[in-house]
Amino acid sequence: MKRKGRLIVISGPSGVGKGTVVKALMDRDPRVRLSVSATTRPIRPTETDGIQYHFITHEEFERMIEADLFLEHAQYVGNRYGTPEKAVDEMLEQGFDVILEIEVQGGVQVMHRRPDAITIFIAAPSFEELARRLRGRGDTDEEKVQMRLQQARMEYLIAPQYQYIVVNDLLEDAVDDVQSILRSEELQSEHQQHLLKEAL
Ligand code: 5GP
Repeated sequence: MKRKGRLIVISGPSGVGKGTVVKALMDRDPRVRLSVSATTRPIRPTETDGIQYHFITHEEFERMIEADLFLEHAQYVGNRYGTPEKAVDEMLEQGFDVILEIEVQGGVQVMHRRPDAITIFIAAPSFEELARRLRGRGDTDEEKVQMRLQQARMEYLIAPQYQYIVVNDLLEDAVDDVQSILRSEELQSEHQQHLLKEAL
């Protein structure tokens, strides 16, 4: 029987580098796919509709909620974000591990709706370092940096609900850590029953 993929939630504060960790993981492992969320946030010049996000209107977003098309959805700094469920399930059925790179309110919803999801919170080595990274992104607006740090504090309060916390100090180490988590999950005896069948 073909292996079914695993659902993996990756969250972490703005500036922690979770997107870079996810990208590096996908470069290393062709079995990993990233879910494309829907959002009402305006598209940025570097983005393409359907690649980073499906950019939709508030009305379309409401309609998707009413039709129960989201695996989870949340509001984040004034915009709405949601994971279309069908596309995720299709990739899982095809045997891909599917990453949801989402904020924590959505992460908690996934924990309830899909208890077998693997949940990982990416943390910064320190708050000082997080602030340094946020300022280093060319975002010189100190008020915005403080707002993001405040948001990060809220996210850290929810982080203990995640199964794993990975510190993104050196990128390669963080990616190694995520791969180790996925590998050890794979080796759990409940996923290895097929190996024992002969003897049973
Ligand atoms: P950005 O607008 O900077 O791309 O993303 C803002 C935040 O929304 C990030 O923390 C990102 O992980 C999160 N996000 C992106 N897609 C989703 C989604 O489908 N659901 C939830 N809950 N959060 C999302």
